[in-house]
Amino acid sequence: MTEDRTETQVVVVGAGPVGLMLAGELRLAGADVVVLEKLTAPTTESRASTLHARTMEILDSRGLLDRLGEVPSEPRGHFGGIPLDLRLPSPWPGQWKVPQTRLEELLGEWASGLGAEIRRGHELTGLTVTGDHAEAVARTPDGTTVSLRAKCVVGCDGENSTVRRLGGFDFPGTDATRELLRADVAGIDIPDRRFQRLAGGLAIAARRPDGVTRVMVHEFGARPSGGQPSFQDVADTWKRVTGEDIGGGTPLWVNSFGDASRQVTHYRDYRLLLAGDAAHQQMPIGGQALNLGLQDAVNLGWKLAAQVAERGPDGLLDSYHDERHPVARRVLSNIRTQALLLLGGPEVDAVREVLAELTPRENVRTHLAGMISGLDVRHDVGPGRHPLLGRRLPPRPLTTPDGPTTGARLLRSGRGVLLVPSGDGAARSLRETAAPWSALVDTVDVVLPPHATAEDSAALLVRPDGHVAWAGGAADDASGLRTALLRWFGAPKAPAASVPTPSKTPAASAQVPDTATAKKRRTDMGRLTGRTALVTGASRGMGRATAIRLAQEGALVAVHYATGREAAEDVVAVIEKDGGRAFTVQAVLGVDGDVHRLFLGLEEGLRERTGSTDLDILVNNAGVMGGVKPEETTPEKFDELYRVNAKAPFFLIQRALKNMPDGGRIINITSGLTRVANPDEIAYAMTKGAVDQLALHFAKHLGPRNITINSVAPGITRNDNPVFGIPEAVEQMAALSAFNRVGEPEDVADVVAFLAGDEARWITGSFVDATGGTLLG
Ligand code: NAP
Repeated sequence: MTEDRTETQVVVVGAGPVGLMLAGELRLAGADVVVLEKLTAPTTESRASTLHARTMEILDSRGLLDRLGEVPSEPRGHFGGIPLDLRLPSPWPGQWKVPQTRLEELLGEWASGLGAEIRRGHELTGLTVTGDHAEAVARTPDGTTVSLRAKCVVGCDGENSTVRRLGGFDFPGTDATRELLRADVAGIDIPDRRFQRLAGGLAIAARRPDGVTRVMVHEFGARPSGGQPSFQDVADTWKRVTGEDIGGGTPLWVNSFGDASRQVTHYRDYRLLLAGDAAHQQMPIGGQALNLGLQDAVNLGWKLAAQVAERGPDGLLDSYHDERHPVARRVLSNIRTQALLLLGGPEVDAVREVLAELTPRENVRTHLAGMISGLDVRHDVGPGRHPLLGRRLPPRPLTTPDGPTTGARLLRSGRGVLLVPSGDGAARSLRETAAPWSALVDTVDVVLPPHATAEDSAALLVRPDGHVAWAGGAADDASGLRTALLRWFGAPKAPAASVPTPSKTPAASAQVPDTATAKKRRTDMGRLTGRTALVTGASRGMGRATAIRLAQEGALVAVHYATGREAAEDVVAVIEKDGGRAFTVQAVLGVDGDVHRLFLGLEEGLRERTGSTDLDILVNNAGVMGGVKPEETTPEKFDELYRVNAKAPFFLIQRALKNMPDGGRIINITSGLTRVANPDEIAYAMTKGAVDQLALHFAKHLGPRNITINSVAPGITRNDNPVFGIPEAVEQMAALSAFNRVGEPEDVADVVAFLAGDEARWITGSFVDATGGTLLG
C-alpha cells in the first residue's frame, strides 16, 4: 500500500560515497534532494580506502578535508603491481587513506547538514518517467510503499544498479575472467606481502595497526567461481599459492572481485542519470573506482541543480555524459591493463619487465600518475589556447585584496568563480560582463605576484567543479567571457522589476504581437530545454515560425524541408544566432520512402547532437493547398493532397512513436476550413478533416503513454502567397477575423509551443481553433 507521496527536485538512489557527495553538491547549488538507501544503517564493511590527489583537492574545495582530520598518506603507488610514484604537483600528492566508512559518515553529515533528506531502509522497486517528472517507488522494511515524484532520478546505486536496470540503460562490456579473493582476518601472523608474484599466483598481505591482516590472493589460471567465496576458499587458495596456513584465523570480512569491465553507453536518459559504479563497472584497483565515482558526482551536481531549477543552458546537463563518459572509458582501459598485469600468469612476465623499465622515466611516470590521480582530466570547454583551459584550477595560493587564499577555498560556496588579475587592463569590462551572473559566479580580484608570467596573468572563469571554463586577459574583449558564462551558467536572470510583463493588447485591436518582448521572455523561460522536436515544412510560413519558437523555448529542432534548402538553412542560422540549436532534414513527403528518408536524416542529426534518437515533439505542419474548384479537381490532384496532407502525417506519427518517450507531444496543423465552407478547397478540407479524426482516435491510443496529440487549425495566415502583397485582398481577408487582421505565422507558432509544453498535459484529441475568431458571425 502506498502511504507516502513526496515531491522533490532530485531523487538520488544509493547513499554510498557517490550518492552522498552528489546529494551535498545538489544542495550546495540549491536543489531539493531525497536520497533513498536500501540499507537501514551505514555499512561497517571496510571497502575502498584510497583517495587520490584530485579527490583530496575536491574535498578541500568543499571544506571537507578539515573535518576529516589527519589523513595518512600511502607513499607506495603501483601500476598493475609495478611500483609507480604517483606524486604530482598538488597540495595532496599521491594516495591518501580514508576508510570508506569514515568517508561515508563525513559525506552523510555534510549532505544532511546542507538539507539533503536521507531515507534509509528504502529499496527502489519502480521507476516511471513522463514528460514532466520521474517517479521513484520504494519499499520500506515494514512493507509500506513510498512514492517520490521528482524532475530527475540519479542512480548512484553501484555495480548492480536498480536504476540502471529499471531505466533500461545499455551496459556493454566484458564479464570477469579472473578474480582476486579478499579477506580481513584476525589472529594470523604472516609476513606482509606487496603484490608478490609466486609460481602459482599473486599474494598480497598487509597487517593493519589493529592487528587485522588483509589478504588478497589469485591463483594463476583460476576462473571466477561465480558466487561469494567462503573463508575456506580463501584459505585453501592462499595455501596453494604461498604454502601458508591461515585457516586458523578469524575471518571478519570475505569477498572477491573480478576483472569485469562495463560502461553504460549513455550516462543520461532523459530524466534518469547514472553516476559512479552504476555507470561503470571495473576492478577496484588502486581505489580508482571510488575516486572516479566521486568525481562523477561533482561534475554532475551543479549541472543537474541548474537543470531542475530551469536555469540550465541548453546542453549543460548533457555535458555530464560528454565529459565523464570518456574519462571513465580511459580509466577502465588502464584498469583492464593493470588487471592483466596483476592477475596474468607467466605469460605477462615479459610485459611487466619492459614496463618496470619504463615507469621510472619521468614522462611515463607523470603520464600514468596523471591518469590514476585524476589530475590530468581536461574537458572540451571551448576555444582558446591557455594551458589551464578545461583543466582543474590548480589549488595554488592566491592573494586577493582581502588577503591570502586558495582556489579551493574560493570554490567552497559551490558557485563559479571569476578570477580577475587586478592589474589587467580589461578588468573593469570583465567585471561588468560577469555582473549579471553575480548570483551564480563570484568575481574575485587577484593580486599578481611580481614577475608573473603571461599565463599566470590571465583572467580565469572557473566552474563550480573547479574546471577552468574560460581564460582571457587584457588583449581579449569580454565577448569570450560572456559566451562562456552563457554556456556554463545560462542566461542571466533579469532583476524582478525589469521582467517584461505580457502586453495587455485589447482583443479587437489589429496589432501584431510584440515579438521582441515575447522573444526575450521566452528565451529566459526555456520550457522545452532538453527536448527534441521535428517540425515538417519548416522552411517557410508557420513551420518556420514554429521551429524558431520551439528553439527559443530550448528545444533542439529538426527543421524539415522539401525543396527550400537555403530557406531551411536560414531558419537554422536564425535559431543559432539566438543561442538555440537546430539542424535541417530533407525529404519530399507524399512519395514512396518519404518517411524512411526523413527519419534517416532526423536520427542522424539527433544522435550527433544528443547521443540518442529520442524525439519528444512532432509537429506535422507541411502541407499543400488545393485552390481548385470541385469540378476541376482531378484524381491526381486529389491524391496529391491526400498523400502530403493526410497520409504522410499518419505514417510520420506511426514512425515517430518508435522514438518518442512517454510524455511526448504530437501537433498536427489542420485548418479552419474544416468548420467554414469554401467550395474551392473541398478536397483540401477533406484532407485536413481526416487529420482532425486522426488526432481524436490516436489520442485514446496514446493516453497510456501520456503522449498528447492535437490539431491546431489556423485561419488565413500570412505566407509567401502573392495574395498577401495585395492590400485590398488583405483587407478583405482581415475582415473575416474578429481581430480584423490576417494571422501571422507567430500567432500559430505560439499555440503550437503551448501544446508542446508541460502545461498542455491535460489536452489531447482536441481541435484547437487558431483562426483569430474567423467568421464568428
Ligand atoms: P507554406 O508557407 O506554404 O509552406 C509549406 C511548407 O510545407 C514548406 O516548408 C514546404 O517545403 C512544405 N511542403 C510542401 N509540400 C511538401 C511536400 N510534398 N513534402 C514536404 N514538404 C512539403 O505553409 P503555410 O501557409 O505556413 O502552411 C502551413 C500549414 O498550415 C499547412 O499544412 C497548411 O495546409 C496549413 N494552413 C495554412 C493556412 C494559411 O492561410 N497559410 C491556413 C490554414 C492551414 P519546401 O518549401 O521546402 O518545399
